[in-house]
Amino acid sequence: MNPGSPSSSRADLVEVLDQVHAHVRPLIGQGKVASYIPRLANVPIDRFGMAVATLEGEMITIGAADEPFSIQSISKVFTLTLALEALGADLWKRVGREPSGNAFNSLVQLERERGIPRNPLINAGAHVIADVILSSSPNAREDLLGFVRERADNATISMDEDVARSEREAGFRNIALANFVRSFNNLDNDVDAVLDFYFHQCALQMSCVDLARAFLFLANRGVCQRSGRAVINPDRAKRINALMMTCGTYDAAGEFAFRVGLPVKSGVGGGIVAVVPNAMAVVVWSPGLDGKGNSLVGAAALDRFTALTGLSVF
Ligand code: GLU
Repeated sequence: MNPGSPSSSRADLVEVLDQVHAHVRPLIGQGKVASYIPRLANVPIDRFGMAVATLEGEMITIGAADEPFSIQSISKVFTLTLALEALGADLWKRVGREPSGNAFNSLVQLERERGIPRNPLINAGAHVIADVILSSSPNAREDLLGFVRERADNATISMDEDVARSEREAGFRNIALANFVRSFNNLDNDVDAVLDFYFHQCALQMSCVDLARAFLFLANRGVCQRSGRAVINPDRAKRINALMMTCGTYDAAGEFAFRVGLPVKSGVGGGIVAVVPNAMAVVVWSPGLDGKGNSLVGAAALDRFTALTGLSVF
């Protein structure tokens, strides 16, 4: 295919993934795994997988695309979707929607902004979202799991208890953030319950294939590609994509918009999900992180993918 010409045929995408893989191969193994969550320190740094799910129903993969990994902050998009359904626009009284320009676990802005987190995709924002979900459902964890399994069409998806426990034991910063938000009366539930839910959502284990399927509704104006049913309305899908674009990679959101030009969400497990509106979801996994907590290889792979295909919102 011609570099830069938009194309999404299966044959073209197979070739593109081969080229992306060849391009990033020298980078695989660089960066650092997220050892601040002790259970993640053991994940082999040399893993690489990629999956593309298209609205035509195609799934194109390369590498370890079927291997489940810890999705960590990618889960914040699922919980945001559920919280918006539960609370609607009132959600924005409790959490902002501007990029933070700070690290995902930073405390500084919260003090100045009186416990209203900048956006739902930083940790403090995700704590507020978790609180909203806990208030709206007596079985919050099961509801989240059910939602994710349905979106990914995979009933075996689970939360890794060891990862959740490991993060709780070392989660001093999240514990500080949630207590700080609580001190401004922006959490209604018990802080421990909020954190327990948050650590479990981050401990969801999913593969690139699972995530590509699960994010397709955001590429499809909120409609499930398989059933044709609305998961959320198009207006909400637009807003979630906008938040991913501006806030999905923390203080690297500008750099990602510049290099990739798509709504994306990363997690410190090394996964990055990108949404190509009206076309597909693209997922990369490689656990070596850059200094801002985003997969180093994942960023390079998405950069290359959009350069080769011309698939970008710009
Ligand atoms: N569970 C991680 C934390 O709270 C999520 C961070 C991330 O994936 O960016 O530190």
